[in-house]
Amino acid sequence: MKYFSSRDSKKEHPYSLKDAAFMGLAPDGGLFIPEYIPQADMSIVESLAEKSYAEMALYLAGLFFGDDIPEDELRAMIMKAYDFDCPLVKVSEGDYTLELFHGPTFAFKDFGARFMGGMLGILSRMKSEENASDSDEMLTVLTATSGDTGSAVAAGFHNVPGVQVVVLYPEGKVSDLQESQMTTLGGNIHAVRVKGNFDDCQALVKGVFNDSEFRKNHYVTSANSINLLRWIPQSFYYFYGWCQWKKATGKTEPDIVVPSGNYGNITAGMLAHFMGMPVRSFVAGSNANDVVPAFLRSGVYSPRASVRTVANAMDVGAPSNYERMMYLYDHDFSKLTASVSGYSYDDAQIKAAMKELFEKNGYVSDPHSAVAYNTAKDCGMDGFRLSTAHSAKFLDVLHDALGPGAPDSAFAIPEGLRKAMEKPKEYTVMENSLKDLESFVDKL
Ligand SMILES: *Cc1c(COP(=O)(O)O)cnc(C)c1O
Repeated sequence: MKYFSSRDSKKEHPYSLKDAAFMGLAPDGGLFIPEYIPQADMSIVESLAEKSYAEMALYLAGLFFGDDIPEDELRAMIMKAYDFDCPLVKVSEGDYTLELFHGPTFAFKDFGARFMGGMLGILSRMKSEENASDSDEMLTVLTATSGDTGSAVAAGFHNVPGVQVVVLYPEGKVSDLQESQMTTLGGNIHAVRVKGNFDDCQALVKGVFNDSEFRKNHYVTSANSINLLRWIPQSFYYFYGWCQWKKATGKTEPDIVVPSGNYGNITAGMLAHFMGMPVRSFVAGSNANDVVPAFLRSGVYSPRASVRTVANAMDVGAPSNYERMMYLYDHDFSKLTASVSGYSYDDAQIKAAMKELFEKNGYVSDPHSAVAYNTAKDCGMDGFRLSTAHSAKFLDVLHDALGPGAPDSAFAIPEGLRKAMEKPKEYTVMENSLKDLESFVDKL
């Protein structure tokens, strides 16, 4: 399988898996897409899903990566990455939700980050075998985060041999819990608390990538959410949700509702659909950052600066996966809107949904998944919606939404989260300085 930039419409510049994975973004600024979309046999998917999520994921991953990665290595990696649950839960009559928050960091980004961590471990070992002079060169993954991505990447890459991770986050701008998740792993995970904001962190990472002199002697890559090694495996849980929904209802063409920010998640669902999974429609739910729903209504795409909301992992004003979405629908607006629609909600509506879910159904929801709940109601969903994070990651919003009368049990913190919060944090404090970052990487 070769990979092309989403902007290379004539498919003139092929990239290997390794190059596409290490580059992250294509040199022309486009996003990598596979040369063709492999077709999955749904009866195989169904029978493997009966066995386990990992068995099903292995089959689907093989369709993309089977030529590049030996089967036994892919198997070992996937069995290790996907050792957690992914249940379809019936919240009330007709309201099914696929809970994607049972991984180590309690948010759906674990599905992409763990897969990418494992794959980079395999690819970097294969690279050093091919080129003996590289054999002791560690791969350094640099990532800037405003919170959730950093914790998923840190957990996904923890203890991957041959790989070390530097996570940059803005001082005072991430929650205590998020900071704990990034700074308590140790080993190959190095947390850096930058005296600046998220944009400064991103600029520092870009600065390293643009320093060709530095890159001559250091083997660096990023773990950005647009990386195809994070994107492709996110298509797998759609198949798993589909199988469970079919079992529960006997139906085969769901509407799928996805709380969306950067649109990586929902585009991965579209990928699953083009691989052969039947779907009636995709519905995006957004917070006040409604650039894509507005585009789906008007045909005019106008990205803008993001605004802060209670569903802050979706505070994106210029969704990077817009290009992948347009690519998948042949840049054809009427084809896109025939099966994709979008809704958006302000903070008050999101909190009202959290309260309603709890009072009517006894279901405790995080704000992102509550956006999907509202969307499902308004679009008349006959299918399932995705839940992207555990409610305990957003306790402040939850307290605010449920009000003073809510029982303590609604605010219970799962063991895995509590453990991270109890451990001592370890991080390096750094000025907003490229020189300091490069000398830090140099000394690792
Ligand atoms: C990242 C994230 C989202 C948004 O996903 P996209 O792929 O960016 O659309 C939604 N919910 C949670 C909890 C997230 O962490």
